[in-house]
Amino acid sequence: MDKKRVLVSGASIAGLTLSYWLQRYGFDVTIIEKGGDLRLGGQNIDVKGPAVEVVRMMGLEEKIKAANTTEVGIRFVTTKNKVVSEFSKDDAFSMTQELEILRGDLVEILYNKAKANADIRFDDHITAVNNLDNHVEVEFKSGAKENFDLLIIAEGIGSATRQKVFGNEVSFAYLGVYTSYFTAPKAATDSEWARWCNAPGGIVFLIRPDNYGTTRASVNFRSPERGYEKLPLDEQRKLLTDKIKNVGWEAPRLTEAINKSEDLYLERLSQVKAKQWYKGRVAMIGDAAYCVTPIGGKGTDLAIAGAYIVATELARNTDHTKAFEAYENRLRPYVAKVQKLPPGVPNLVYPRSKMGVAILNAAFRVAGSNFFKAVMKLFGKDKKKPKEELELPKI
Ligand SMILES: Cc1cc2nc3c(=O)[nH]c(=O)nc-3n(C[C@H](O)[C@H](O)[C@H](O)COP(=O)(O)OP(=O)(O)OC[C@H]3O[C@@H](n4cnc5c(N)ncnc54)[C@H](O)[C@@H]3O)c2cc1C
Repeated sequence: MDKKRVLVSGASIAGLTLSYWLQRYGFDVTIIEKGGDLRLGGQNIDVKGPAVEVVRMMGLEEKIKAANTTEVGIRFVTTKNKVVSEFSKDDAFSMTQELEILRGDLVEILYNKAKANADIRFDDHITAVNNLDNHVEVEFKSGAKENFDLLIIAEGIGSATRQKVFGNEVSFAYLGVYTSYFTAPKAATDSEWARWCNAPGGIVFLIRPDNYGTTRASVNFRSPERGYEKLPLDEQRKLLTDKIKNVGWEAPRLTEAINKSEDLYLERLSQVKAKQWYKGRVAMIGDAAYCVTPIGGKGTDLAIAGAYIVATELARNTDHTKAFEAYENRLRPYVAKVQKLPPGVPNLVYPRSKMGVAILNAAFRVAGSNFFKAVMKLFGKDKKKPKEELELPKI
């Protein structure tokens, strides 16, 4: 019997993980990526929860550990760079995890694993899709037209193909914040500790160490939805540097880094919510289907776990509808839980006034105090969640 031909659109965390597993299960895989090369920008991300089991099964756990960013924990600081509180890697409230890696390093590791037998095409994208009973007809920017048995969209939050197939069935819950990531030269104030600084105007700076002797910076700001993610790079640079012009802390140094940065990435924080993650012979995975945003903190896990689940269900079920249904039934409750943000988040975390920043820093101080940590320990809340909340299918 001929191998089933699957087109995967998007060569990042979700698309590359999926491609590896589909090949392992005997599918014929074509990957298409809009960028001229892999998109390797971004900050430190972590692999945790169900994704750890998936990367272990892929034989990648040690490689990911070896690419560790060296971060030992996070410090909350004032605009005068005074430490308000700190949470080491072992602390329940630290965002630093065991498998902490630069996003670009993870994409490269997954690419090296997925590229073996896949037909990978850069600098191309889908211009038209016809989702038929027996196959999917696809037209590409290159002018080529091809038929595939299945199409899986892994194009991230801004997916254009999603719109062509799912139209208005997908909605966005904008969280009122834009985020940006870029690489900055290391400064004397940088160490192996990440630093989080709230500044008036609803600005949050996050600076994290990397394993290349540079620093990964993030500037976040509150704003109504304005389509800033679509602006040309130079205009994004101007927007960001204007936002941080008078807010103090390390803004001058970050302004210089933004103006020189080649890997600046700016995106809105918006959750993606779709009524259904598949339609006919097309399905969506990762941020394209269920973006949780970095505030939800599990985007990488969902991208990896979702990719593994859909591949495994396609291998277990010859009927693709049954496979897509099983994928969605298994993952949807987990996604719903992760997309539920605590009350007041993100607004409480991005105060606009000086007073709001002072109140938030006072709260960070309490949360970081030995007394508070001792109380949390008493209630058994000092350990990182040990139990798995999502059972992975196995063949
Ligand atoms: C450059 C970049 C930097 C990021 N930095 C961070 C970060 O620092 N911290 C964080 O928490 N999250 C970051 N993210 C988001 C993070 O990667 C995702 O939240 C998560 O890992 C889910 O991955 P994904 O594969 O679903 O989507 P993404 O990682 O967003 O990847 C989508 C891929 O699809 C490609 N693509 C888009 N449109 C098309 C199209 N029409 N046709 C073909 N290909 C297309 C993109 O170029 C990209 O390679 C970043 C994403 C990108 C693209």
